Amino acid sequence: MAKKGERLASKPGDLYVVATPIGNLGDMVPRALEVLQGAARVVAEDTRHTRRLLHHFGIHKPLLSLHDHSGPEALERCLELLAAGESLALVCDAGTPLVADPGFPLVREARRRGFRVVPIPGPCAAVAALSAAGLPCERFAFEGFLPARRAARRAALERLRREERTLVFYEAPHRLAATLTDLAEVFGSEREAVLARELTKLHETFLAGTLEELVERVARDPDQQRGEIVLLVAGAPPDSGGDLDCRRLLAALLEALPPASAARVAAKVTGRERRALYRLALEIAGESER
Ligand code: SAM
Repeated sequence: MAKKGERLASKPGDLYVVATPIGNLGDMVPRALEVLQGAARVVAEDTRHTRRLLHHFGIHKPLLSLHDHSGPEALERCLELLAAGESLALVCDAGTPLVADPGFPLVREARRRGFRVVPIPGPCAAVAALSAAGLPCERFAFEGFLPARRAARRAALERLRREERTLVFYEAPHRLAATLTDLAEVFGSEREAVLARELTKLHETFLAGTLEELVERVARDPDQQRGEIVLLVAGAPPDSGGDLDCRRLLAALLEALPPASAARVAAKVTGRERRALYRLALEIAGESER
């Protein structure tokens, strides 16, 4: 319970954005329980799922449904309830609402209309993965889900190829192998990455290696393509990737090395894909022979 001098757990007319566990129910935050208990209603992505969660904690509340396919009436209803002085707790199926989950229009509109919007922080798969993956996380870029179609996914990755911050993706298990292959081809097979799976659950796994190693590992072991997945990829080395830089680097390396070795070293230095560099090395070697 709130101690003297602390903010009350819930206040009429406020919107609470409440994080819930991403697997392990022991991660439910005491303040989240207090707020859920005190709110007039709980606004949920999937009311059946949330009812089970609340039931587990002995909380029985009226539920309202709000998800990406709700019409504008659902949003308006929430805003009317806030205006009528009801406190609402917004939750998603797992983790932090709005992070690759519904809730943005409600939070945005509630703020615009002057309601107090209060975060109740707790689990988030992206942050949990980052905290334990062993990749730099002073600065990172959360990319959510990549496009499902290959051409759009590769175009999205091309735009990220030179990003120097650690990249964080959510991925569906059935697309993992294809996404890893695309990552290796666009970012270079030598780029470091971590596959964080089933966080906080029984089969929690962290697999670290180069993208090439992860492609092979996942192809060999179908178990790695099960469950919930966060994919983290190290950022590009500073100043890497410019075509001119690669050309100059390869030209210098080719003075001492055959094309295959020059491409391997250049891939390590630039993070670019080895096969593409090999083709470029052959082209440069051909030019110098002419
Ligand atoms: N709002 C959630 C959060 O705060 O992390 C994310 C919801 S998003 C719809 C679901 C995706 O998050 C999953 O497909 C997976 O990529 C990731 N995810 C959720 N729980 C996870 C877990 N326990 N382990 C690994 N990834 C998880």
